[in-house]
Amino acid sequence: IRRVKLFGVEIDALRMSEAVREIWRQIESPEAKTQYVVTPNVDHAVLLQGNPELQAAYAEARWVLADGWPVVWASRFLRQPLPERVTGSDLVPEVFSAATAEKPLTVYLLGAAPGVAPRAAAYIEKRWPHVKVCGTYSPPLGFEKDDAENERIVNMVNEAAPQLLIIGLGAPKQELWIARHREQLHIKAAICAGATIDFLAG
Ligand code: UDP
Repeated sequence: IRRVKLFGVEIDALRMSEAVREIWRQIESPEAKTQYVVTPNVDHAVLLQGNPELQAAYAEARWVLADGWPVVWASRFLRQPLPERVTGSDLVPEVFSAATAEKPLTVYLLGAAPGVAPRAAAYIEKRWPHVKVCGTYSPPLGFEKDDAENERIVNMVNEAAPQLLIIGLGAPKQELWIARHREQLHIKAAICAGATIDFLAG
């Protein structure tokens, strides 16, 4: 994949359809390692400065997709054009839509305020009958600093055994969380998805 360096971040020149295909290839692959998606926006460039752990989390992401139009515009201005904008909240429904009876999908929803993810789960299973939400969890305030809580979250996700983890903790918490815990997770892929769980809850 061609990558374009913008605002100090290497971004994949991928269309939505290509990103969906690649994520599904990962979901269906026998590879044991969890791969994840981040979707940087211009404000992430500010977050990245002076934050080596976040820079590493971006560098280790298998897919880095342009969330905002300003990123796409900048790429065109610099004559290294990105084909289109691929936001996390557009990507997640597209990945769900690629599930079929022969190729069903299991997902876990991590994040959003208490009560929101179960509502999103009900909507998802109604709208995409081949997607099964096998668990949801809303971590308490300050969870990221609590090792025991993080271990509990990893265990909950692994017990639910989803193929895909949707992480809606906002940037940069979601990116740091997946980079810290990917090795312990027995899943195929994760998408750092911002407020997508809220959108799916209606
Ligand atoms: N959130 C959460 N735990 C936190 C902080 C945020 O679950 O400790 C959720 C919040 O409820 C919302 C999402 O993360 O669902 C943040 O969405 P936002 O649009 O702010 O994401 P960003 O655009 O910052 O990535």
